Amino acid sequence: MNFNRAVIKVGSALVAPDANGCSGKYIQAIAAFVSACQAAGKEIILVSSGSVAAGRSLIKHGSPIPSIETKQAMASIGQMQMMANWQRFFEVPCSQLLITHGDLKNRQRYINIKNTIRVLLANGIIPIVNENDTVATEELKVGDNDNLGALVALVSEADALFILSDIDGVYDQDPRGNPNAKMLPEIEKITEKIYAMAGTTSNPIATGGMKTKIQAAEKAVENGITTYIVNGHKPEVFEKLLKGENPGTCFQASLEATKARKNWLKHTLKSSGQLVLDIGAVNAVVNKGASLLPSGIVAIKGQFAAGDSVDVINTQDNSIIAKGICQYSARDLQRIKGHNSDQIFDILGYRPSKVIIHRDDMVIIPNQDSE
Ligand code: GLU
Repeated sequence: MNFNRAVIKVGSALVAPDANGCSGKYIQAIAAFVSACQAAGKEIILVSSGSVAAGRSLIKHGSPIPSIETKQAMASIGQMQMMANWQRFFEVPCSQLLITHGDLKNRQRYINIKNTIRVLLANGIIPIVNENDTVATEELKVGDNDNLGALVALVSEADALFILSDIDGVYDQDPRGNPNAKMLPEIEKITEKIYAMAGTTSNPIATGGMKTKIQAAEKAVENGITTYIVNGHKPEVFEKLLKGENPGTCFQASLEATKARKNWLKHTLKSSGQLVLDIGAVNAVVNKGASLLPSGIVAIKGQFAAGDSVDVINTQDNSIIAKGICQYSARDLQRIKGHNSDQIFDILGYRPSKVIIHRDDMVIIPNQDSE
């Protein structure tokens, strides 16, 4: 398995297959796959649908197409059943993350989500993400969990995305009732033709279809995340994945995309300010792979908010040594610079993070002139 951190998107048809509460029918094999990945040292984040489907039978609606508030009420009931259903199959704890597109668009919330996932993974916990259906209005919704899966892969800096479907992969023609349809094991470029092949879904439980899966793959691949669409109903699919084989359709992240992702921070994010470091901190950041702590900061320049990108400066020669996403605003940093992380809470009254810039959110700039 050629990945370190993966997001696995599991649809409603797998969680609550008969639209009548949750079941272990398919989840058991999926959970076993997640545990096997963890045993192999991989980190896994689940994006699970199924709250609406799981709560469906418990709200009277009298219509095949329930109203939005009815669906929200169903989600509110089904979400905890869905979580409990997952937990049955894991020895390690599962954690629940309910987010909306509005949360992912908000810089501060984005960084909070990122930090939370980082801590959960570091503790061997399985984050299980779903859209926060009860609060999401149309314009703040991702709308389908395929696209949410891609966004979660981005925020968690995963290098692989597995979308579990009810068919084997992407076919050149609609495979239902068409024996000549051929599955495409590899899709190098996502074109209009690929979208046209994907057609639309016919599963009444599912929200997305092949179209939203391809959209998700497109988002992920552009960001250097290799994506697989595989059949989540078949246990042998997971055996193949564990052997490093591709049982479905793979969208390989291009080399440029992977490089681009690494360079995204360096080149795309405009710096809003500067943090000036003493020589000890410069050494820790450049030579020891450390995160940036408040104690080594001697000065802060510019006005910026938490979640903004900043340049990290060596006080000795004023050169830029790194660039990164800052966990604190310039205002807060003025108060905590030069202090130990342990003192942050006493000074500010809150401590969202022990570090000022986490190592994973920082890129070292060896020589400014050569950029
Ligand atoms: N958030 C929805 C649910 O849990 C599912 C959306 C989707 O499956 O794409 O029921």
